[in-house]
Amino acid sequence: MPRELLLQVTPEIAANELLLKDYLSKQIKVSPKEIQHVSILKRSIDARQKAIKINLKVIIYLQGEAFQETKIELPIYKDVSSAQEVIVVGAGPAGLFAALQLIELGLKPIVIERGKDVRGRRRDLKAINVDHLVNEDSNYCFGEGGAGTYSDGKLYTRSKKRGDVTRILELLVAFGASEDILVEAHPHIGTNKLPKIIEDIRNKIIEFGGQVLFDTRVTDILVKNNEVEGIVTQNGEKILANKLILATGHSARDIFELLDKKKIFIEAKPFALGVRAEHSQELIDSIQYSCDYRGEHLPPAPYSIVKQVNGRGMYSFCMCPGGVIAPCATSPGEVVTNGWSPSKRDQVTANSGIVIELKLEDFKSFAKFGALAGMEFQKSIEQKAWHLAGETQKVPAQRMVDFTQNKVSADIPKTSYVPGTTSVEMGQVFPGFLSQILREGFKEFGKSMRGYLTNEAILHAPESRTSSPVRIPRDPITYEHLQIKGLYPCGEGAGYAGGIISAAIDGEKCALMIAETLK
Ligand code: FAD
Repeated sequence: MPRELLLQVTPEIAANELLLKDYLSKQIKVSPKEIQHVSILKRSIDARQKAIKINLKVIIYLQGEAFQETKIELPIYKDVSSAQEVIVVGAGPAGLFAALQLIELGLKPIVIERGKDVRGRRRDLKAINVDHLVNEDSNYCFGEGGAGTYSDGKLYTRSKKRGDVTRILELLVAFGASEDILVEAHPHIGTNKLPKIIEDIRNKIIEFGGQVLFDTRVTDILVKNNEVEGIVTQNGEKILANKLILATGHSARDIFELLDKKKIFIEAKPFALGVRAEHSQELIDSIQYSCDYRGEHLPPAPYSIVKQVNGRGMYSFCMCPGGVIAPCATSPGEVVTNGWSPSKRDQVTANSGIVIELKLEDFKSFAKFGALAGMEFQKSIEQKAWHLAGETQKVPAQRMVDFTQNKVSADIPKTSYVPGTTSVEMGQVFPGFLSQILREGFKEFGKSMRGYLTNEAILHAPESRTSSPVRIPRDPITYEHLQIKGLYPCGEGAGYAGGIISAAIDGEKCALMIAETLK
């Protein structure tokens, strides 16, 4: 019988198949030659002690024991070109995984995406980084693959539904992601690998009879007697179907405005807001691994930190080891930060959103905007930051210790944020209570992670697109909008996901719910 074993080894042993076999042979008292194969089921880093260890869960197959390499395959898809049509607005993880699931269920998805395909998108990313030009339909948030395409591709989620998570991870592997994502405790894919995976998903949708329309912005939703009839695009074209998955993400402000104008029920929801902090990766490694040099077998260290400050949660968000800060505005006249990393996470800087949870009462001065109050509050901060930093894609920046001491930084070194920075006292960007919590919070962070609070760390503002400021309410059982039949609010923009994996799971669930109604 193959043996399953939990063990802790040095990073060097974990990284080398021969050393691992040798180690295991001693543990189970057989010669290394008798070990036919070792499958790693789980891998995580234990950095609590000075000597860092790797936790492994393995299965050991001895010679003669049945072992077969398993290849993860795609589900069996059938041609849906003449099947019932379902409109999917948005080709982010929610929309794409909804489309794949619809095909699996024998329904035809028509995916409508305002942005360009992953390749075409690159030119617009260059334009925002280099020329400070924001294309309102093609940017870091909009375009094929959605907001997650040019990201760190972190694939961990707080979802407790492990079966759903595994299914999405396996689909990603079947579409070309490394099998390591099934094993790592904190899997990620990386900006350089994600676009090819997204492209392959789109090709599969088309191969099996689905449709994918790029450069097509939905400007209206056709509704009659509280039932969906279809959509209208920016060119006035109508596409009709009575089932619509609305997966437009948290940055599609025009969609929230459209729903509000049409009196389709939406509501303001709390979200989080703050800054993006950048340290040298070397410093984060030395703090997290308690060493001067992390060596060749450990990955660039991530960090995750949460504190209660003045009764509010302040926490790290979307931390990118070995990553770069990206300009994520979706309209001219605003600045927004977020982060990405290549698959090797080999850049010299580490960045993370550091955000504070907001409450509905924090934007009560925007109450006249009703359900859009949070969105308008978010927008006002992004626009103020744009103005303070010089009305380009440069962002306000401040050294971390200077910020805690309310001091404008005398200089800001070059950071990974390509459009550049302007030295600004962050207190000017945020309302007083938020700046105060951030100031206190960074001092607290410095106590938990010695060395974190340093003037070498640079804060960039704002980190404002952490989650949707609006919820599009739906029935918790059927996933259908509470008021409009045939409308399925989906993914992060509707308030039902908070990352790539949870958005993909939500997309699949919406597709399943639609199939249920058609049985
Ligand atoms: P989105 O991905 O936002 O997709 C919505 C799509 O709808 C977009 O493609 C948009 O163009 C389209 N759309 C909008 N309006 C219209 C319209 N009117 N007509 C037609 N199409 C429209 N999450 C992680 O889990 N891990 C990470 O490492 C990570 N890093 C990130 C890094 C960056 C730079 C950014 C911006 C986000 C990152 N995220 C990360 C968050 C993650 O990308 C989102 O949670 C996820 O993409 C949400 O999926 P979604 O499908 O719900 O929406």
